Amino acid sequence: MRLLLILFLIVSCSKKDVRSSSLGTNPNEKTQFYFSTATSLTVEVAYESGHEPFAEGTTITQGGNTNSIWQILDENLNALFQGRSTLPVITVPKKLADMKEIPDQSKTSWTVSDIMSLASRYRTNQSTQTHTYFWVIFLGGHFNDGTQDLATTIGVSVGGTTVIAIFKDVVNSTGNNPGGIVPRYVEQSTIVHEIGHALGLVNNGLPMQESHQDDAHGHHCNNPNCVMYWLNEGKSDMIQFAIRMSTSGSVIMWDQKCLEDARKF
Ligand SMILES: [Zn+2]
Ligand SMILES: [Zn+2]
Repeated sequence: MRLLLILFLIVSCSKKDVRSSSLGTNPNEKTQFYFSTATSLTVEVAYESGHEPFAEGTTITQGGNTNSIWQILDENLNALFQGRSTLPVITVPKKLADMKEIPDQSKTSWTVSDIMSLASRYRTNQSTQTHTYFWVIFLGGHFNDGTQDLATTIGVSVGGTTVIAIFKDVVNSTGNNPGGIVPRYVEQSTIVHEIGHALGLVNNGLPMQESHQDDAHGHHCNNPNCVMYWLNEGKSDMIQFAIRMSTSGSVIMWDQKCLEDARKF
């Protein structure tokens, strides 16, 4: 999946740039705080009109049950905390009605400060030491890294915050059919990947239990079968990945080493 690979590379670069600024001013959004002390973890989703996420119209089948595709994010977040004595309460919206529609901003280009000022206007909750809130915003247009628009960036995680932006037009462009299986899984796996960075993977706040950082590519995992890998081997492999997950009964995208970093923190 060519677009996805480019995304992973660019995200690590943009994260680095963002981190050197002072955008993340809420001390409770530092990984080390919220990850170890959170008793609840809530994902809030918002979208510009006309750029809504795939929701109840797109489902996955698991053990005979039909679930919203957002079950993928839900299960991947839950997997990170397995084995702890107290599990945080994880809340992920499954229906469009549980996500917040905001007016179309009619912007073709979004810098990090544009994204953060939108967050300050529309975000409802801020993280505290015990309650972590992620804010995932679906936008039209493209990410701008401060010098240029990046036509193939699907998502960004703003360093030092729990704000994640997904560029819906780019998601749709990853398949011949905008509502097809590839864009759907690209969307979910991008959110899982970006929340992984925000939670501290790989070696981005969460110490590694065993060495598995792909040093040449920033905070990414060296396992090609892990969602935190910086690239996949092309579109046909991504389709195979999607089919494998849809039939395997498991939708967990992290590999064991990423899971261990989270579970042992
Ligand atoms: Zn990444
Ligand atoms: Zn991994």
